[in-house]
Amino acid sequence: MTATRQVNTVLGPVSVNQLGWVLMHEHVIICNPGWELDARNTYDRERDVAAIAGKLATLLEYGVKTLVDATPIDLGRSVEYMVEASKRSGVNIIASTGLYSENRGFPSYFKSRSIDQIADWMVWELTEGMSGTTTKAGAIKVATGLGKIGQYEEKALRAAARAHKRTGAPILTHTDGGTMGGEQVDVFEEEGVDLSRVVIGHCCGNSDLRYHYGILRRGANIGLDRIGITYVMPDEVRRGIAMSAIAAGYASQLVLSQDTEGQIYGAPFFDSVAPPAEGAQPRRQRLYADMMSGFIPKLRETGVSERSIEACMVDLPRKVFGD
Ligand SMILES: [Zn+2]
Repeated sequence: MTATRQVNTVLGPVSVNQLGWVLMHEHVIICNPGWELDARNTYDRERDVAAIAGKLATLLEYGVKTLVDATPIDLGRSVEYMVEASKRSGVNIIASTGLYSENRGFPSYFKSRSIDQIADWMVWELTEGMSGTTTKAGAIKVATGLGKIGQYEEKALRAAARAHKRTGAPILTHTDGGTMGGEQVDVFEEEGVDLSRVVIGHCCGNSDLRYHYGILRRGANIGLDRIGITYVMPDEVRRGIAMSAIAAGYASQLVLSQDTEGQIYGAPFFDSVAPPAEGAQPRRQRLYADMMSGFIPKLRETGVSERSIEACMVDLPRKVFGD
């Protein structure tokens, strides 16, 4: 028997089998890149951390013990906010290293680095600490744009693969408009990644089940991780995808999460992502516990078993984090 694998939370290592129910793709704070460079923009740290911690704490009432913050370094990631919010709320937060898409992020410093230089930086953040602190990341986040993988995005995907192989940290991705998931898997496969440790994010931006099964059959996990972003896709469609994949035996390859923005700075972050979908609801502030009070009970009502829901919420995170 090998010792149970430990995962880095922002407050230190935790056994993978202690994570409990996990939200696999959320954000504590998020800014459009460069927001912090305009000196007229300022944080109200105390107000914001208190608000975030309060929203996080409600997760414990639903039995959710852990949240993965999928914010890459170029979207305003704040180690300080994650540490404080975790301390005050009692929710484990697993932070990410990595880079966002070329059209909305990816500072030119990183564009000029080689694949292995980017991988070395990711490994540093996973093993030494993020952004000059000793707080370690526990996951790797990379992204691709709409309908194509840019040259720099491909570098980041390959760097993520290499950092994953050196550290065992899982890979979480962003995709745009439900495209390029299969192509992301191609790159990870070429690099020799264990695909069971990869989450192809935002697959719920695509309503074609062939897209999802194409990824599931290869052993990678799919993210139905924008639950509640109804202006991108109605939640009924996400529920349909979940029910189909669960019925086909893929429950432990399904990520159910919300991509909640937490605290948003500057313009609303998702404004430029997609035009409103048919059946879109008016927007409201989304909360971390929304999925637990809305989407999950509806899955139960439609006959999805508790065991299948636990496969999504407990078994999948344990597998992805290397148990
Ligand atoms: Zn996200």
